[in-house]
Amino acid sequence: MNTAIKEKPYVLVTGAGGFIGGHLVSKLLHIYDANRIRAVDIKPLEQWKQIFEGVDNVVGDLQKIDECHRVCEGVDFVYNLASDMGGIGFIETNKALCMLSVLINTNMLLASRDAKVSRYFFSSSACVYNTQKQQEFQLSPLSEEDAYPAMPEDGYGWEKLFSERMCRHFSEDFGLATRVARFHNVYGPFCTWRGGRDKAPAATCRKVIEANVNQKKEIEIWGDGKQTRSFMYIDDCIEGILKISMSDINQPINLGSSELVTINHLVDLVEEIAEVKLKRVYNTNAAKGVNGRNSDNTKIIQLLNWEPSTRLKDGMRETYGWIYEQYIQASTAARN
Ligand code: NAD
Repeated sequence: MNTAIKEKPYVLVTGAGGFIGGHLVSKLLHIYDANRIRAVDIKPLEQWKQIFEGVDNVVGDLQKIDECHRVCEGVDFVYNLASDMGGIGFIETNKALCMLSVLINTNMLLASRDAKVSRYFFSSSACVYNTQKQQEFQLSPLSEEDAYPAMPEDGYGWEKLFSERMCRHFSEDFGLATRVARFHNVYGPFCTWRGGRDKAPAATCRKVIEANVNQKKEIEIWGDGKQTRSFMYIDDCIEGILKISMSDINQPINLGSSELVTINHLVDLVEEIAEVKLKRVYNTNAAKGVNGRNSDNTKIIQLLNWEPSTRLKDGMRETYGWIYEQYIQASTAARN
């Protein structure tokens, strides 16, 4: 297997029409020439969140092995971010769709092995962690070992855990150099902010903007607002992906912020940014996920001397501003 790093590698990003994939291509353009990058997504090009000239932008369904072979041709590095996913509302009600992403990950691994790629990065998730270890609101941060014994998030989490194991065995049995990062809640400009696949930071911004624009005085919160989470700003995520993919870390590793907040605190922050105070209506029947989840960053600090460090209030300010613009543009377009 070709593990040497070429001076001018050809780089493939899957899921490039999505949130994180688009930012990754943007960053890679600072490192490699555009004609050394291929970006792939199943969505038609006009639906990609970001699109870059000079890059080989390909529309293809990576659940199909032939497509995977086609896009892996001549490729040295693979960043596999393609997945059928969304926030908790989506993953709790679309478990089969989430699990079908196993076809993407299986076929991408096979095609990468056959194309003799030298690096294969897989975007896993904190949803692989044992749900029984996340029942408390204030829990110890999750360290990499807490994925086992396996009892991940149903559907989405099982698929990620299984795909992580495939990366491990492709590495052991076929010598494919795989790198796996477990992302903890990523947010930032270009994230999905409406339509049912949005996650808590974006959904909170949208709901606060909606309340403001429509002069509604209240906001619906899923759950009782006491759930705890950490949220990683997109710039940290991209930096972490690049560091991990080029490191020697061949075991799954956390990539997340360790700034733990309650959902209520997240709403406080957005209200502060929007300069508004809303009545909170708690929908305890809505999907709310585990009670507590935080990233233990001991390993990433030890191995990379780095961890995501953007303060939530700073990242949320950027994100709110971007979603506000999108909201206004969408409402103007709907009126015309
Ligand atoms: P996203 O939905 O914005 O991007 C995923 C992209 O994959 C989409 O554009 C989608 O069209 C594409 N895709 C889906 N099925 C495909 C197929 N069959 N062939 C080709 N492309 C396909 O999601 P994101 O937030 O950018 O997430 C990227 C990766 O990071 C995913 O693997 C996701 O599971 C993982 N992750 C994200 C978060 C987060 O908070 N955003 C957290 C944990 C893990």
